[in-house]
Amino acid sequence: MVELAYLSDAAPAAALPALFRPTGEMLRWFEAKAGVSFPHARYAQVLTTGNAAQELASHALIGRAFLDPILKSPEEDWVIAHELAHQWWGNLVTCESWSEFWLNEGVTTFMVAARKEHRWGRAAYDREMEIARRGRERAAEAGFDKPLSWPGDYPSLGLRRAVQYSKGALFMDALRRELGDAVFWAGLKRFTRTHAGATVNSSDFQRAFEAESGRNLQPLFDQWVF
Ligand SMILES: [Zn+2]
Repeated sequence: MVELAYLSDAAPAAALPALFRPTGEMLRWFEAKAGVSFPHARYAQVLTTGNAAQELASHALIGRAFLDPILKSPEEDWVIAHELAHQWWGNLVTCESWSEFWLNEGVTTFMVAARKEHRWGRAAYDREMEIARRGRERAAEAGFDKPLSWPGDYPSLGLRRAVQYSKGALFMDALRRELGDAVFWAGLKRFTRTHAGATVNSSDFQRAFEAESGRNLQPLFDQWVF
């Protein structure tokens, strides 16, 4: 049993349940996909002033600017899903260095798309992948379509996000298509369970999916990750 809490001094208390309504069902869905229970007794979402969002172990800060789009259109709940997904991918399983940051953000960006597919249908997933494709195209146009595990410095936050968030999500989609849904989701569970409470790198990720599929995935990882 996980207690859900909603805190804010940026909006009236009465507005909070509507904003955060999908949280409970989302949390159960992410638990099923991770194969690991939510790792805390309580999940608190703190609505703040401003337009930023940030995950922390057991809670998330979400800027007031995200409130209105969700009230107008429940499908715009990506920020709730994104910060909640980080409780597994990012916080429970943490990239060991910034060059492996796609394991936090690419996986989470993909999980938002997968969650949208589950809740709103395949078209919602395809829309998220299209956004990711446009992000990667911006990186390519800037001559910065780097491998996911790249140790260099990005010249801007936008380009870092285009690779580690957008290209990372596209790689997850490519891996899913390559392996098929059953093996792909079992691989993600194996990765998450094996490394819960630890730090990870891209080779850990590769090994989990190779063990699950019984296949050599080196060519695919060389193409996208290394
Ligand atoms: Zn994130």
